Amino acid sequence: MKVTGRLAPSPSGRMHLGNLLSALLAWLDARSAGGRLILRIEDLDPDRCDPEKAARVIDDLRWLGLDWDEGGLEGEYCQSRRARYYEAAFQKLRDMGLVYPCYCTRAERLAASAPHGGEGEPVYSGKCARLSEEERLALERAGRRPAWRVRVPDVNLSVNDGHYGPYTQNLRRDCGDFIVRRSDGVWAYQLAVVVDDALMGVDRVVRGRDLLPSAPRQAWLCRTLGYEPPEYVHLPLLVDKAGRRLSKRDRDLDMGALRERYTPGELTGLLGWYAGLLDQPKSVEPKDLLAGFSWAKVPKNDIPAGCP
Ligand code: GLU
Ligand code: ZN
Repeated sequence: MKVTGRLAPSPSGRMHLGNLLSALLAWLDARSAGGRLILRIEDLDPDRCDPEKAARVIDDLRWLGLDWDEGGLEGEYCQSRRARYYEAAFQKLRDMGLVYPCYCTRAERLAASAPHGGEGEPVYSGKCARLSEEERLALERAGRRPAWRVRVPDVNLSVNDGHYGPYTQNLRRDCGDFIVRRSDGVWAYQLAVVVDDALMGVDRVVRGRDLLPSAPRQAWLCRTLGYEPPEYVHLPLLVDKAGRRLSKRDRDLDMGALRERYTPGELTGLLGWYAGLLDQPKSVEPKDLLAGFSWAKVPKNDIPAGCP
């Protein structure tokens, strides 16, 4: 089967070095296999995303020299325009009796719906799954608007990560019932990403290791909805001197600053060097990295993002 990969940026701010490394490796992974690439804009959260930011993200990817076969701002490649697919999947889960309303506090809900969960994310207790009908109606009458959670089974689920190897979670113990729709109606990343990858025919998911803990629940949700999960390939994170993951808050590493400091070739070379594909940073185009690309060269430990 032909490889279909995807670039899936969240346009909640400017791209930074870590997002670019993910994008470059997703591009190399698909292109080195002669595969296709889809650009999907993950703009689920209307409070944090807008078309202007998305356009800037797209411009940044092009500036670096990446390309894709379909996707972008037109058509149905922005998650903000795919609600009917999420709705349909939600109904399917509901028909299977797998979703229930959760009335827990806003703080808890937000914590549980962040895409970068996993380590440190509280596992939901399942409290609202046990509400009686009277308790539920009382909460409704008090004006509480629920989020919706999907009930996970008590099973061990393994994904065989293309870079890190087997990764297993007990869904009940390590993941817990997770949110598929927020109380404000916004679809959760976990549902949207599974539905989109399935409907778009994506069979290779390349992304940062911070999302590895989400992979078992996504594979499970994918199968539950009747699709074959993609292959997951996670890459190490870029970290600062103290070993902390680079974040969007480090403004000197966002694309605004990076585009002033480097040419596209220099930045691609720096990323290629981080990824173990070059002995030293030098100016290259993404396609120059294709011949030597191999996951075996990419480190597994997180990468200190020093600039020589
Ligand atoms: N949109 C997510 C991000 O930019 C990536 C999600 C994914 O690759 O599954 O961090
Ligand atoms: Zn609850």
